[in-house]
Amino acid sequence: MNYTVSEVLQYTEENDIKFIRLAFCDIFGTMKNISVMPGDLKRAFEQGISFDASAVRGFDNVDRSDLFLVPDPATLSILPWRPSHGRVIRMFCSIRRADGTPFECDGRSLLRQVADRAEALGLDCRAGAKSEFYLFKMDENGAPTLDPQDSAGYCDIAPLDKGENVRREICLTLEEMGIYPECSHHEQGPGQNEITFRFSDICSAADNLVTFKSVVKTIAARNGLYASFLPKPLVNEDGSGLHINLSLFRDGINLFDKKHFKPDSDSGYFLEGILNRVPEITAFLNPLTNSYLRLGHCSAPRYVAWSVQNRTQLVRLPEAQGEYSRMELRSPDPACNPHLAFTLLLQAGLAGIEKKLALRESAGELAAPADAGKSSVSTLPVNLDAALGLAEKSEFIRKYLPGDLLASYFDAKRFESTAAAQAENQHQFDLEQYFE
Ligand code: GLU
Ligand code: MG
Repeated sequence: MNYTVSEVLQYTEENDIKFIRLAFCDIFGTMKNISVMPGDLKRAFEQGISFDASAVRGFDNVDRSDLFLVPDPATLSILPWRPSHGRVIRMFCSIRRADGTPFECDGRSLLRQVADRAEALGLDCRAGAKSEFYLFKMDENGAPTLDPQDSAGYCDIAPLDKGENVRREICLTLEEMGIYPECSHHEQGPGQNEITFRFSDICSAADNLVTFKSVVKTIAARNGLYASFLPKPLVNEDGSGLHINLSLFRDGINLFDKKHFKPDSDSGYFLEGILNRVPEITAFLNPLTNSYLRLGHCSAPRYVAWSVQNRTQLVRLPEAQGEYSRMELRSPDPACNPHLAFTLLLQAGLAGIEKKLALRESAGELAAPADAGKSSVSTLPVNLDAALGLAEKSEFIRKYLPGDLLASYFDAKRFESTAAAQAENQHQFDLEQYFE
């Protein structure tokens, strides 16, 4: 909706707004917020509202613990599920230091920087995401169980599909918040659902993904259900992927449109740039030990390859026309931090363009590239330990993500990966660690 500061102040006054949530994400993509009253909104825009960074995992620098949240007026959205009198609005914030300089571990600001870099190259990258999730029943104490809401399958209908009312409520809520839900349906796993929302500029797409997850969890809870974005909550059923769709526009022309897409054109270079870097950035696309139980099974990719329609490949170019033409990256899962994931993907794609990396051959219709298993075809890392090994050595990642962020991220992820390796049963460990 792209409000300005004065429009937000006016909106707040005219619409019985009582609370303003100032939202941000930690380095793992977890959404956080602080509420202020309308009387403090002007100050928030001018000076920012301080919070204790030492209490936020990954930001924890006790020496310089005062950070400030400055709301971004363009992200204003009502929280439709909060009371209709004394309403609640939310804005995403940029995180600043006391002297007004951007906090270097703020994922939103890192993504903004690369989006600006793309713009300087005359490119506009748009992104859309399809996230899958499970709906589980709760027990009598309100704690989540591993009992799925239904036993329906792909695109099933009621009464087998018991998710239709919750999906309806999620879609209507998203719409009220300015996120257009394009498509929703029951997915392959029991209790598994999928909702796709419309693509947008890459910065809004990352914010929207964070909003999407909070809406799904909130609406599910209001319906007595637990929504899980864990990549593989049930060992023998489909995992939940986050398929990231990217398109690239120059002068209003979508370079992924079939008419323009060639291996040795900017869209081909962009795609090759991404394929080239996916293994080393996988620790950011698939951040949990549990992520690796999903990859390589039930239409989740294992090999670094692309093809036109094949859903088992890492990247496919779906059949689509005009502005809907895009590349779909299928390895990420919804546990990732969208701002960091998009930052790395866009940097990788732009590097591909700058270096004119010609696109490798398509893997065609095969489930795996013809020479899978031979050294010429790389595979995605098989576990978090291997993914971290590649990420820690990556000069590319060091170039684009700040050292402090990396130190905290790698520390936390190493801890999880070591603990999982020592566990008797990794899936059990994952559930204890991540399920709730
Ligand atoms: N659930 C699969 C995954 O983990 C994807 C199924 C689909 O193509 O929608 O990525
Ligand atoms: Mg799906």
